[in-house]
Amino acid sequence: MRTVVLNGRDVPVSTIFCIGRNYAAHAKELGNAVEEEPLVFLKPLSALLPEGEPIRLPDWSADIHHEAELVVLIGRGGRDIPESEALGHIAGVGIGLDLTARDIQSELKKKGHPWTKAKGFPGAACVSGFASCEPFPDAFSFSLSVNGQLRQSGDTRLMLFPLEVIIAHLSRLYGLQEGDVIYTGTPEGVGPLRSGDTLTLTLDGHPGAEWKVA
Ligand code: MG
Repeated sequence: MRTVVLNGRDVPVSTIFCIGRNYAAHAKELGNAVEEEPLVFLKPLSALLPEGEPIRLPDWSADIHHEAELVVLIGRGGRDIPESEALGHIAGVGIGLDLTARDIQSELKKKGHPWTKAKGFPGAACVSGFASCEPFPDAFSFSLSVNGQLRQSGDTRLMLFPLEVIIAHLSRLYGLQEGDVIYTGTPEGVGPLRSGDTLTLTLDGHPGAEWKVA
C-alpha cells in the first residue's frame, strides 16, 4: 500500500491520474497541439516519491525532465460527477513533479505507443503532503526552482481544462475513488535534471516541497 499525507495523517492512494498538455504554452514548447478533451495517462503506485527521498535518475534515459504540477487528492469518489459539484470531491491540494524521460517519450510518441515507460519509473511521481482548503480558492499559483533558479511558474487560471472539468471528465470515463491522486499538468519551462540538483517547489508563495537528485 502506498500512502500520501493529508493534514498530517497517512491516506492510502488508489490511482495516480495525470493530465497532459493542460497549459497552452507548455503544449507549444514541445510542439504539441492543444487537446479537445483532457489528455489522461496513469502512473503506477510504485512511482510515488514523498518529500525528502532522493530522486534516482534511471540509467536507461539521458534526459529526465521536471514537470511541476498542482496535485489534488480525491476525498470522495464517484461516477458522473457534475462540474458544479467537482471541487467538493477534493480532500486536499499539494504540489508535485511529473518526472518524464523525455528521450524515451519522444521515441514512444513516434511509434504511437503508450507513455508508461517514460512516465512510470520509481520516483517519477514526486508528491508533497496535501492540505485541505476551506473555502476552496478560485486559483492556485506554484513554482519550481532548481538550485535556486526559477524554472517554472504556474497559475491554475491558465489551465486549458480547469479542476472542475478534469474531475467531471475522469469520473465519467473511469470513475473516481477515495485516495485518487491527480497531477493537473505542467506550465512551460520544463527541462532536464542533473545529479546533485535541488528542486524547490512553492504553492501560493509558501514552501511546498523539496527534493534532491541523487
Ligand atoms: Mg505532466
